[in-house]
Amino acid sequence: MARYKGPVCRLCRREGMKLFLKGTKCFSDKCPVEKRNFAPGQHGKDRKAKIVGYGLQLREKQKTKRIYFTLEKQFRNYFEKAARAKGVTGAKLLEQLERRLDNVVYRLGFAISRRQARQLVRHGHVSVNGRKVNIPSYQVAVGEEIAVRDNSKKMTVLEIAKDFTSHQPAVNWLEVDRDNYKGRVTALPKREDINLPVNEQLIVELYSK
Ligand code: SF4
Repeated sequence: MARYKGPVCRLCRREGMKLFLKGTKCFSDKCPVEKRNFAPGQHGKDRKAKIVGYGLQLREKQKTKRIYFTLEKQFRNYFEKAARAKGVTGAKLLEQLERRLDNVVYRLGFAISRRQARQLVRHGHVSVNGRKVNIPSYQVAVGEEIAVRDNSKKMTVLEIAKDFTSHQPAVNWLEVDRDNYKGRVTALPKREDINLPVNEQLIVELYSK
């Protein structure tokens, strides 16, 4: 499965904001956005022009794609599906991104970043309704139980994540049992449940050209 293998902090610097792709480092003073908050590259510091129109739409799409750590083709597919679905396209797009299994594992607090959650899924540590699922893009449905598999519960990364995310606010559409590393999808995520600095309408405008 294709995935981005380049330096991830560069992605945050390009978007000019923290995308929280690295876990604990993101909350420390080692975060490059804290130290060098300008675009990467030789002329990064000189890029001062205000972004408008197409550029703004493009940046919004890139930012959202990077937050969920998806590649262009897959992101575009989410948009196509959202455009065909009933309801507001932008909200439907975000709903699909939120329903990704790796995102749900992250939202449940079993990983400190979506990247780490993705790895847990890929390595077969996660089950859905008791069956191993190792596809990070798997779309969870209402009523499904997401859990860390029994043999994997002793992993140190899980304990670190549990401590790290213990003060994380509850997610409206998920029910979580942190001690037993399991959770349930109680509803589909609504736009107001998704607390991200994203203007999805700009993405819809970009792809609708
Ligand atoms: Fe982004 Fe985290 Fe790297 Fe900071 S440390 S630039 S928030 S990935």
